[in-house]
Amino acid sequence: MLTGAGVSAESGVPTFRGETGLWRDYRPEELATPQAFDREPRLVWEWYGWRRDLVSKCEPNDAHVAIAERVLESGETRVITQNVDGLHTQAAEAVAESSDLSPLQRPIELHGSLFRTRCTACGKREASHAPIDASSEETLPRCAACSALLRPDVVWFGESLDPGLLTESFKLAGEIDVCLVVGTSAVVHPAASIAFAAADAGAVVIEINPEATPLSSVARVSLRGTATEVVRGIL
Ligand code: NAD
Ligand code: ZN
Repeated sequence: MLTGAGVSAESGVPTFRGETGLWRDYRPEELATPQAFDREPRLVWEWYGWRRDLVSKCEPNDAHVAIAERVLESGETRVITQNVDGLHTQAAEAVAESSDLSPLQRPIELHGSLFRTRCTACGKREASHAPIDASSEETLPRCAACSALLRPDVVWFGESLDPGLLTESFKLAGEIDVCLVVGTSAVVHPAASIAFAAADAGAVVIEINPEATPLSSVARVSLRGTATEVVRGIL
């Protein structure tokens, strides 16, 4: 299963391509880049602080829960997500009533997580949930090990995805019988290519999206509804 921002839309997390995806008239493409962070780390952290705050107030919706139930019951279903909101993990932990999930029960988070930081110098990754003080450059989060600036552990425009996660995802695409694609515009590559690779390898691709996407032409079935309307039923 491949999911995108649309699966979280009904939880109140804005998609990038929706009207409410904007923050103070900035487009995500202007802020989610290494160049923007080099130039104005305070502004970029302020935006990420706002996004973290927004997502912290959101709950997994019925689509996240149905997907989590399926993953935990079947032991054979995997979730690959472009989302950085952590809601798939949150749903799985709630269904399992434990935060002790196996790696196979966890989603493959292709684009990282809003709730992790990475050191710009030593590369150390850490879970991070505290509010961000972006009032000045001096108050931005810093590495406990080497005191360099921390950045959000997300993949920005122009950056490469983790090669290990990509290999694992394309391997899955070559093995699966059915690929459910929920709430992705299918224009962000290489994430979208995973669904095309699954179709090429003979998997039945089922798309769930209120709008047509480039993937609709290769999907066996395109269900034009929202995630919470369609996902539980189709599963
Ligand atoms: P996108 O914003 O490009 O597209 C969202 C898609 O979801 C659209 O095709 C839209 O028609 C569909 N959609 C909207 N509401 C829906 C609903 N209720 N149910 C089902 N589908 C719905 O998102 P993308 O394809 O994930 O790519 C955008 C990039 O932005 C990704 O790289 C992702 O990392 C990032 N992003 C993540 C989040 C998040 O973590 N929740 C939010 C915004 C953007
Ligand atoms: Zn460091």
